[in-house]
Amino acid sequence: MKAANFEHHEPTSVSKAVSLLESLEEPTILSGGQSLVPMLRFRLARPDTVVDINGIDELDYLHEEGGYLKIGALARHADVEDSELIEERYGSFADTVPLVADPQIRNRGTIVGSVAQADPKGDWGSVLIAHDGEVVATGPDGERTVPIDELFLLPYDTSLDEDELITEARVPIPVEREGSAYHKLKRKTGDYAMAGVAARLIFDDDGRIEDAGIGMTAVDITNVRASDAEERLGGERPDPELFAEAGELAAEQSNPESDEHGDASYKERMVEVLTQRALGDAAERAGVIKRRVSP
Ligand SMILES: Cc1cc2nc3c(=O)[nH]c(=O)nc-3n(C[C@H](O)[C@H](O)[C@H](O)COP(=O)(O)OP(=O)(O)OC[C@H]3O[C@@H](n4cnc5c(N)ncnc54)[C@H](O)[C@@H]3O)c2cc1C
Repeated sequence: MKAANFEHHEPTSVSKAVSLLESLEEPTILSGGQSLVPMLRFRLARPDTVVDINGIDELDYLHEEGGYLKIGALARHADVEDSELIEERYGSFADTVPLVADPQIRNRGTIVGSVAQADPKGDWGSVLIAHDGEVVATGPDGERTVPIDELFLLPYDTSLDEDELITEARVPIPVEREGSAYHKLKRKTGDYAMAGVAARLIFDDDGRIEDAGIGMTAVDITNVRASDAEERLGGERPDPELFAEAGELAAEQSNPESDEHGDASYKERMVEVLTQRALGDAAERAGVIKRRVSP
C-alpha cells in the first residue's frame, strides 16, 4: 500500500527543524525511515506533515568529545558497525550492531531514531541504560538532556515534547577497568529480540565492582533497568555465583509476556542466562577475569 499524502519538509539546520516543529500541527520526524516508512505504507501512521532531518549535516557524527561518546541523530547503525573506535572501546555497541535487523536496515536506520521509536524490542535502549546514557532533546527553548531512564514512558511513547527532536544520544567514555557486552536471543538472523541484556561493569583498583549497569530488551513494556541486580553487584568481586544471583534478580525484575515464541517463564529464564553471559563478557573485557563466566 502507498502512504497517504503528507507535506514533506526538508530543513537543513537544527534551528530550521525546530522552527518547523514549532509551527506545524502534529509534525512527524523522519530520520532513517526504517520504522516510520513501513508505518506510513501500512497507514498505521497518517501524519499531515513530515519533517525529514536527513539534510541536516550537522547531525551526522559519531565521536568522543567532552567525556562522552556522542552519537548524532543521523549516525546510522552501519556507522557504528564500521567504526574502529566502537570496535576497540565499546564492547556492548560492537556486540549489538550486527544483531540489529539486516544490513539494508542498518544502512539507513539510526540509533537515535531507534530510541525515539521507543520499541521495547529495540536493542539500543538497553545499551544506553547499561551505560547510564542520555539523549539531548532540542526544542524552541534550547537543549535539555534527558537521562535514558526518563525517556521511555510506554511502548512507542517517550517524554519528548512535540516540538522537540533528539539531536544526540550519548554515553560516558569508558574509564580504566570498564567492560560492557550485549547478549540477545532471537529466533533467526534479522529478528527482533525475544529477550536481550546489556551489561556494563566498572571495577576499582582492588578488583571489586564499583558500578554496574544492566538494561533489558523485550521483557517489559519498555526497555528497563535491572536495578536490583545492579545493586547486588556493587562492592563485590566477580564470580560465577554472583553473576548467577544477579541473573536471578534481573529475571525477577523483568515482566515478559507469553507469546508465540515462548511463555513468560521461559523468557525469564533466558533473562537469567543472558545476564550471566553479558556480565561475564563485561568482566572479561574490563580485564579482571581471564575467561568468560557463563553458565
Ligand atoms: C524488519 C525490521 C527489523 C528490525 N529489527 C530490529 C532489531 O532487531 N533491533 C532493533 O533495535 N531495531 C530493529 N528494527 C528497527 C530499526 O532499528 C529502525 O532503524 C529504528 O527503529 C528506527 O530508526 P530510524 O532512524 O529508521 O527512525 P524512523 O523510522 O525515521 O523514525 C522512527 C520514529 O522515531 C521518530 N524519530 C526519528 N528520529 C527522531 C529524532 N531525531 N528525534 C525525535 N524523534 C525521532 C520518528 O518520528 C518515528 O516516530 C527493525 C526494523 C525493521 C523494519
